[in-house]
Amino acid sequence: MAGFAAVSALPDADAIAFVFRIPYENQFGHRGATHSITFALLCGLAALAFAKARSLRAPVQVAVLAALTSLSHPLLDMLTNGGLGCAIFWPFSTDRLFFPIGPIPVAPIGLGMLSVGGLIVVAVETILFSPFLLYATWPRRAKTATS
Ligand SMILES: [Zn+2]
Repeated sequence: MAGFAAVSALPDADAIAFVFRIPYENQFGHRGATHSITFALLCGLAALAFAKARSLRAPVQVAVLAALTSLSHPLLDMLTNGGLGCAIFWPFSTDRLFFPIGPIPVAPIGLGMLSVGGLIVVAVETILFSPFLLYATWPRRAKTATS
C-alpha cells in the first residue's frame, strides 16, 4: 500500500524542476514528462524489475497496477481547474491537456498548501475521494488458503 501510494505521488517529483529553474511549461517542467503515459509505463517496468528482484508473487500484476497507479495521477490532474494541463502524450506531443471538465480545484504549489486555499483543496479532495478510501479500508474477511 505504501509503495503504491508513493507511485501515485511520484509524478509530482517533477516539482524539483522549480529548484533548477526549469520553466513550468518546459517538457521537463511541472506536469510535463512525468505526467505522461510513457512515464507510467516506465514505472510499470521499474515495478516489474523490483517485483522480480524481490521474488514477489504475481510480478506482472504488480507492474500493471504500478503503471495504472502512476497513470491515475496525471488523469486526475487533467480534471483540475488550474495550472497547465498535463503532457500526457509526451514524448510524442508536448501539448498540455485537460479534460473538458475540471471539477477538482488545483492545489497551490509548495507552502501555498498551508493556506485557506490549500485547506479548501484538501477538503474537496477528501469528499471526492472518500468513496474510494472507504472501499479500500472496508473490513473484509481474509482469504484462506484451500486445498
Ligand atoms: Zn501532478
